[in-house]
Amino acid sequence: QVGVLAVVGRPNVGKSTLVNRILGRRAAVVEDTPGVTRDRVSYDAEWAGTDFKLVDTGGWEADVEGIESAIASQAEIAVQLADAVVLVVDGLVGLTATDERIVKMLRASGKPVTLAVNKIDDGASEYLAAEFWKLGLGEPHSISAMHGRGVGDLLDVALESL
Ligand code: GDP
Ligand code: MG
Repeated sequence: QVGVLAVVGRPNVGKSTLVNRILGRRAAVVEDTPGVTRDRVSYDAEWAGTDFKLVDTGGWEADVEGIESAIASQAEIAVQLADAVVLVVDGLVGLTATDERIVKMLRASGKPVTLAVNKIDDGASEYLAAEFWKLGLGEPHSISAMHGRGVGDLLDVALESL
């Protein structure tokens, strides 16, 4: 029985780009426009000899009413069905209130969470990851889903909790 790893986070942080990077192909749809991935989509994946299911989710946008949109509930369902979660945040944008709300929900779920700070495309941007320690999820793993930087190290950690 293979474990399920769900990738969650706000729209446009690079979740689908990360999923494609892990799969080694362009399966998930990447868009410059936020909110393109509306459902949760599951893929068979493998990393360092471990088979697992990788679930891409849609945007998790908190509006004034809360995060109760249909898209958000797909992400919540994905978390409930997952054995472990990768929370992706955007290192270029920085920490947002929505990130903090997502963390609250993830904490309530009790699932193990690995934090990925994406769009850290080079060493000069590395310092941008530090503010995400504030989320209380432990080490922020800086990655560039686009270029592959840090993705192997992130997976090593995330798959340990499967
Ligand atoms: P999602 O909505 O979270 O699934 O985000 P997408 O994967 O669709 O990506 C949203 C935008 O961020 C696209 O324009 C991507 O090309 C861009 N992007 C994703 N990963 C990176 C990255 O590592 N570095 C940079 N600079 N841009 C990225
Ligand atoms: Mg997407």
